[in-house]
Amino acid sequence: MEQFEGLTPTQTVERVGALLGCPPSSAQVAQYLDLQDPLRPLRDEFLLPRVSQLPPSDQSVADGSADCIYLVGNSLGLQPRLARQYLEEELDKWAQTGVHGHTEGCRPWAWAENNIEQMMADIVGANREEVALMNGLTVNLHLLLLSFYKPTASRHKILLEAKAFPSDHVSTYTAHTYLHCSSFKVLFHIVKKQKGEETLRTEDILDVIEREGESIAVVMFPGIQYYTGQLFDMAAITAAGHRKGCYVGFDCAHAAGNALLQLHDWEVDFACWCSYKYLNSGPGGLAGAFIHDKHKDTIKPALTGWWGHDVNTRFQMNNGKSCIFGPQHLTVVSSRLLVWVKVFHKAGMAALRRKSVLLTGYLEYLIRLHYTRDPSQPQRAHVAILTPTDPQQRGCQLSLCFSRPIHRVFQELEKRGVACDMREPSVLRVAPVPLYNSFSDVHRFIETLGAALRASSS
Ligand SMILES: *Cc1c(COP(=O)(O)O)cnc(C)c1O
Repeated sequence: MEQFEGLTPTQTVERVGALLGCPPSSAQVAQYLDLQDPLRPLRDEFLLPRVSQLPPSDQSVADGSADCIYLVGNSLGLQPRLARQYLEEELDKWAQTGVHGHTEGCRPWAWAENNIEQMMADIVGANREEVALMNGLTVNLHLLLLSFYKPTASRHKILLEAKAFPSDHVSTYTAHTYLHCSSFKVLFHIVKKQKGEETLRTEDILDVIEREGESIAVVMFPGIQYYTGQLFDMAAITAAGHRKGCYVGFDCAHAAGNALLQLHDWEVDFACWCSYKYLNSGPGGLAGAFIHDKHKDTIKPALTGWWGHDVNTRFQMNNGKSCIFGPQHLTVVSSRLLVWVKVFHKAGMAALRRKSVLLTGYLEYLIRLHYTRDPSQPQRAHVAILTPTDPQQRGCQLSLCFSRPIHRVFQELEKRGVACDMREPSVLRVAPVPLYNSFSDVHRFIETLGAALRASSS
């Protein structure tokens, strides 16, 4: 891909078209980009469902033996091939050695986090001791707010965006209402979109913090908004919150493994994320939590547990002093999780992100090429992209709206072997994941979308 360095996705696609002497919309362009993609071999490390393996059963319009077009890694990442082997090894170890598996074998369970936490920390831009793998995301959020939400009479608001994910909304609400100050009238201060705009402007977020900051205890934002796919300027939001004395935390469910994060350098106070979306740990995979090490000795409650003891003294059970602060106090990870972090680590976040910008840019390019928002052409299907165009303001997901009923479009796509995600009221979320999706997947999706839109209008 080096020959395209410095070019925008649009310039790259057009340059390849010219090089091959074909229109930029041609499938040859996708094939060429796949051949040039240094991360291409990673796809073979994942198991891709075939069309016939997916619901619904009415698939007369698709070739059942083909790989499905999987664009829903933002909801559940694909299974790494090695996951089964790792799981079987652990099950065998458990069956054959029982409790000795804690300390024996190739990946002793008792030290599992030693292998994983550094790699996980690299993925989110943190120091190892700032990161823990534990519980589910929502539980971690509740725990983190328990430590970071410290309302006083004058500073008790929590700043949320208006369309916050239910977990963010409920956990902040719970923290506010039940734990501390049910008597306060103002619960949250919410950032609202400008009229007619689909995403938030950074300056509006910073403006609210500037105006209301003195009364805000915690700024609680998503890294990437799950519905629109907007990637927020976490560094700027954090700095603005700190200037006003607020704690700033992020729900990175859609950002971890998708955007380049620098949680430590940005001085984010706390964060949480799940591992089953872009990190491919499988359903029920442990979630992540981050607490900046500047809070090491001060934040209370510290949520400590025996696993936070220095490993050399952990089993002395003396309740003594060597308790290392940090969220890893609660960490007991199963070493099967190692597999997904390993695949990730092999690729490297920077290389993944580079491919991601081009892959999603290619998707956007083809949508704009084929579809109009021009209201004077009502007979043509309209496709609108809610997600910002600027790659700095998005991850891999594009959120699409259609002039046709969303349920019909979704149904027709499913029939044709596309796995994507419909969100009420009117959005289709499409996420080409750089780990395993190809440029040809994107091209197939666009062709399939054309057929689905034609079918949904008849
Ligand atoms: C997926 C997602 C969650 C999921 O929380 P769980 O506790 O894993 O169910 C939470 N927050 C956001 C923003 C999400 O996108």
